[in-house]
Amino acid sequence: MTTSGTTCCEICGAEKKIAKSGGYNACPTCRVIISNIKNHPQTIKKLWPELQDEPILPKRDLKKIQEELELPEVLDGKRYMTVDRENNKWYLSVSEVDGQPVEVFASTAFDRDHELQSRISNLTTITRLISLMLRHIFLNEPLTLQKCLKQIKRSSRQRNDLPDMLYGVLNRYTDMQGKTKK
Ligand SMILES: [Zn+2]
Repeated sequence: MTTSGTTCCEICGAEKKIAKSGGYNACPTCRVIISNIKNHPQTIKKLWPELQDEPILPKRDLKKIQEELELPEVLDGKRYMTVDRENNKWYLSVSEVDGQPVEVFASTAFDRDHELQSRISNLTTITRLISLMLRHIFLNEPLTLQKCLKQIKRSSRQRNDLPDMLYGVLNRYTDMQGKTKK
């Protein structure tokens, strides 16, 4: 079906002579763009980073961003066994959604050592924040200060360990409204 006439271009909003192209009611300028994207994608890809100084956004970024992301109960994943410099055995697990990493976990024998609580809380902070970034990169989960703070706070195992101190400092930035600096 073809419609034409002067209304608003669905893409840029210009009031020009509109015709259907690529599924849009588009103005002449946007129709040229559509036709070039359809017919010369390699040229667009080549020129875009040069002329715009940024990569073309991957397709997944066009998806509607979900405010709260629900991960499936059971995720696919891979578990890796590795040994560090001090000869501690580590298990590194990567959970996947559609083959992309979305969460990491690390565990090691010193998990059970009570004298190493702070080391464990630092480790938990690292994996929680990496998981947050991975979900942002691969699943478009919005990355906010609130979410970072939540993960940092949950990583803390005792008062005044590193995550607890970081939480205390960064949390000041969330409720600065109406407060004066001490
Ligand atoms: Zn247009």
